[in-house]
Amino acid sequence: MKESSIVRIELYKLTIARREQFRISLGVMDSVENILVQIHTTDGLYGWGEGSPLPYICGETQAISLEAARTLAGFLIGKDPYAIEARLHDLDRFLVHNTTAKSAFDMALYDLLAKQAGLPLYALLGGEKRLFFTDETIGIDSPEVMARQALNTKKHGFLAIKVKLGTNRHDDFERIQAIRAAVGDDVLLRIDANQGWDLVTAEQTLRDLARFDIQYCEEPIAHWNQAGLRYLREKSPIPIMADESLFDHHDAFRLASLGACDYFNIKLSKSGGIHTALKINAVAESAGIQCMLGCMAETRLGLTAAAHLVSARPNIAFADLDSAFNKEGDPVVGGITYDGGWIHLPEVPGHGADILPEALKSWEWCTVTVPA
Ligand code: MG
Repeated sequence: MKESSIVRIELYKLTIARREQFRISLGVMDSVENILVQIHTTDGLYGWGEGSPLPYICGETQAISLEAARTLAGFLIGKDPYAIEARLHDLDRFLVHNTTAKSAFDMALYDLLAKQAGLPLYALLGGEKRLFFTDETIGIDSPEVMARQALNTKKHGFLAIKVKLGTNRHDDFERIQAIRAAVGDDVLLRIDANQGWDLVTAEQTLRDLARFDIQYCEEPIAHWNQAGLRYLREKSPIPIMADESLFDHHDAFRLASLGACDYFNIKLSKSGGIHTALKINAVAESAGIQCMLGCMAETRLGLTAAAHLVSARPNIAFADLDSAFNKEGDPVVGGITYDGGWIHLPEVPGHGADILPEALKSWEWCTVTVPA
């Protein structure tokens, strides 16, 4: 491989309006405020990465992610882009946490490596092209509104629906009762309380909801209460999936060792990207735990990179890659396409997603280059 180094990094504030407000137990989302990273190399290639900050989960806003990215970019300039382990080690050694900003760099570096190799990202990761489906997620609202949305989702060809809960036992029961009645028995229902229940409420509510054939429940109680999660897993008739309590492979090892959950929800914004996501999945496989690949509020660019990872690792058995839907416009060219809930990967080198040049002009940006 000829020598190459990182010569320029462009950073963008990607801001898009949502078609509808989206409510979960932790808060309300009115717009999409992500960051984009474009890494250029001396061999004339560039890689794109996206980070989607969710402040109440990862501790980053768009402004924090961008400022972190501006500093982190300085550690990459002039370095070999293909030594991903070394590049990410440099970032982690300087700045702990800030996983969302780091995930954008990780994604861009994998895009570059796959382009350099002339392979689609899933093939670079040693995987096969797999056809798989995503669920669509329904935010917290009245039972009537949620049931109508669920039926609509089913009509659009989705085999699985994820339902946001986590308010109180009574209302959450009414929501799932209305949704199951609306969609019938032939749709998979997954629920996510986003830490909204205390331990007692979680135990009672999961028992109540078991009659509606729920595939699994994400993060029922506070993310720090892993002993509580293990207790709940023993009591719950519904399998438990760790989300906010799982950021990296160390969390994965701890949760698996405790026997605290049945499944892991990996998100690139939490793991700091693909590199650590692969480590989480390896721990999961070692413990006999299947994973889901989830999302925050990425455009199709971030979702495409995530979809390659799903394709490459069959132990990632479930996908929740639906954040492309609730947005005003789509600034991405190439990338994954949807057929109902089925996801089709592009067959080009890299992850295969790019950004429309006219969209870039509308966003605030800055450049970090090799010093003169
Ligand atoms: Mg979740």
